[in-house]
Amino acid sequence: MTDAAFDIAGKVTVITGGGTGIGAEIAAEFCRRGAPVMITSRTMDHLGPVAEGIKQDGGEVDTIVCDVRKNDQVEAVIEKTVQRWGRVDILINNAGASFVANAHEISANGFSAIVAINLNGTFLFSKAAALVMMEKQTGGSIINISSDAGVFGSATMSHYGAAKAGIINLTRSLAIEWADYGIRVNCISPGPIETPGVKEVLWPTKELQDKATGSTALNRFGTGLEIAWPCVFLASKAGGYVNGINLQVDGCMTRAGIPESRLN
Ligand code: NAP
Repeated sequence: MTDAAFDIAGKVTVITGGGTGIGAEIAAEFCRRGAPVMITSRTMDHLGPVAEGIKQDGGEVDTIVCDVRKNDQVEAVIEKTVQRWGRVDILINNAGASFVANAHEISANGFSAIVAINLNGTFLFSKAAALVMMEKQTGGSIINISSDAGVFGSATMSHYGAAKAGIINLTRSLAIEWADYGIRVNCISPGPIETPGVKEVLWPTKELQDKATGSTALNRFGTGLEIAWPCVFLASKAGGYVNGINLQVDGCMTRAGIPESRLN
């Protein structure tokens, strides 16, 4: 039985980037706990199988394709959620993207694209969801997924680090502005989490994986579920007095931001 303080059953939840990795794990966990969940990303190829799996397990889930950089598409996600379930209680801004490059080799377009996906997307979704929460006077909980890169900086992902730092700062601004509407806004900054998408880009070899895990005091990768559970906490009554924080879920990162070549 779910402890009442952590109960999220019936809480209408929107999760961006819900078709892969951490977002898919959060979606499955929220559905297991009885929350109706709208998952969104750029392709049904990702969303379809996740939704199918959730339905087979008895969860309530819907899907809609959206690029978080496009405001009309963002608004359509919130509109579809309200049409289906009447309101939005929880928004998890999990969609994110990056590529590895030295700062002096990143093009203007490349930098803008990473900021647009990670930071602008978080803003657009937060605004669209908050307007519904305000209009319906339901209050709500918004959870932004940043990164340790947003706290410590990141060699070879300066665009991503800057965008994720922006998310941490935006979290506080929104938390302050929207507290009067009963909307709490918090942030989670994961350390290295072993998801297929990120593993392929950042840690393709055993050596790089060992360096990544070795940079945390716990000396291992985190899991998607270990990000989903803090989301449950922040979304529920248990997190009722938590607002504007950045929760680092990283096994105690000790060597973030330093180029791999200088780590041994
Ligand atoms: P992932 O599997 O690559 O997830 C990223 C998700 O974002 C994908 O589902 C992708 O879906 C979606 N996405 C990307 N660009 C989008 C866009 N323009 N519009 C809509 N959706 C978009 O990686 P992950 O590890 O699960 O990462 C999830 C979040 O955690 C990200 O914000 C990431 O920065 C953060 N994070 C991860 C780690 C880690 O070690 N894994 C560490 C710190 C922070 P589509 O491709 O289907 O559009």
